[in-house]
Amino acid sequence: MLNSYDKRLDLPSPDIPIRPAGSTPEIEGVGAGTVTARRAVAQLAEQRWLVLLFAVILLTLSFIYRLPWEAGAAALLTAAAGAALIPRTITKQVTSKVIAEPQPPEPLHIAALVIDALPEPAILLSRDGTILSSNGKACDLFGGLRPGSHISSATRTPQVLDAVMDCGPEKAQRTVTFSERVPVERHMAATVSYLEGVPFRLLFLRDLTEQRRLDQLRSDFIANASHEIKTPLASLLGFIETLQGAARHDDAARDRFLPIMAKQAERMARLIDNLMSLSRVEMRAHLKPRDVVVISELVRHTCDALEPMACEANIGVQVHSELDGVQVLGDHDELTQVFINLVHNAIKYGRPDGKVVVTLERQQSGASSVIAISIEDDGPGIAAQHLPRLTERFYRVPGSAALEKGGTGLGLAIVKHVVNRHRGELRISSKVGAGTKFTVLLAEHIPIQATS
Ligand code: ADP
Repeated sequence: MLNSYDKRLDLPSPDIPIRPAGSTPEIEGVGAGTVTARRAVAQLAEQRWLVLLFAVILLTLSFIYRLPWEAGAAALLTAAAGAALIPRTITKQVTSKVIAEPQPPEPLHIAALVIDALPEPAILLSRDGTILSSNGKACDLFGGLRPGSHISSATRTPQVLDAVMDCGPEKAQRTVTFSERVPVERHMAATVSYLEGVPFRLLFLRDLTEQRRLDQLRSDFIANASHEIKTPLASLLGFIETLQGAARHDDAARDRFLPIMAKQAERMARLIDNLMSLSRVEMRAHLKPRDVVVISELVRHTCDALEPMACEANIGVQVHSELDGVQVLGDHDELTQVFINLVHNAIKYGRPDGKVVVTLERQQSGASSVIAISIEDDGPGIAAQHLPRLTERFYRVPGSAALEKGGTGLGLAIVKHVVNRHRGELRISSKVGAGTKFTVLLAEHIPIQATS
């Protein structure tokens, strides 16, 4: 039976007797002479246009040079006989020589094309580690790679060089990980593969730096979150134990402990709320909010909601806006959370008996207009070195009143994520002793009837 590969190649079926090339097939009941005559006629019919062309040329020449008609007829007959009797295999051979068959591409050429299409750095090496070809990513990684030079001219990492030299039919694939400190710290994985049937190896590299950074961030986040929850929880458990044990009948102790316990429980609840808000915003980070929000109204309502807290600290909150009715596209709840966090911080960390000024103004940014909402306090301010880290999760300015004021260090991280989701911008400026200003920039939404 033929397998599929044989069929593709059109190999004759074993059921049909294979005859030597050039031999004549036996046709039942027909003599060899008749067969030759038939084939000659068929061949003449096939070449009839050639014979006709020859006849026309001959006719023209005999007309011009007045040749005797016998000579012309003899030439035409010779040509017709030639066309009918010259074996077809000769003409076929001649044609196949003239039309050159396309040569199959070299394996190295194919492999070079394949690695060029790869999105990660890849290098083709000879058995002894000479660079044969490399893609653009590999050249970027090693700052240029010269075909013909040894791989050790690109990397001196012993693990990679050992893997290249060890790779062979017995060790078809080896993966090693390594770190480099210069020019920047990066972590890489290199896989060397032996390719069956071709005289070269593939060195494939993956940059693990971003993955390691994310892993580190995730584990830091879990460690921080559990630490932040554990602290008030431990305090709560301690008080409960005391009230159940030694201070069971101590009314004074109970009155002293219960408000502290309530504060710790509130802190835990706030932490969990903030963590939930953060994960909600992160989950929707790629979706641009589409609700129409009247931003001046939202900011005024937020300031009103925080009025009792400001009164308690004897801080006056002033709102300056000439942009009543101005709209932005956004998520109402998320924007409310942003301004609650910022105004709350200004009250919390501002100067007692001081003031908080909230200003809304329009700024032109190229062809579009942007609404800038700034929240400025006259508190102690923040030293410049802390400003870039303020939006990191759980970051609290060391030595600030953040911890005693029940800060979680998540408020500004939420602000940053919400502003990013709104394709806006957050700017922070501060001067120690003079106060802090947070500015949120959001694109203005111009309703369609206003533009037309
Ligand atoms: P927290 O819950 O601690 O307030 P935030 O993320 O809102 O968390 O703020 C991070 C830190 O930034 C705070 O702990 C505080 O040290 C500092 N900070 C924020 N706002 C102000 C401000 N208006 N003035 C001074 N420091 C501030």
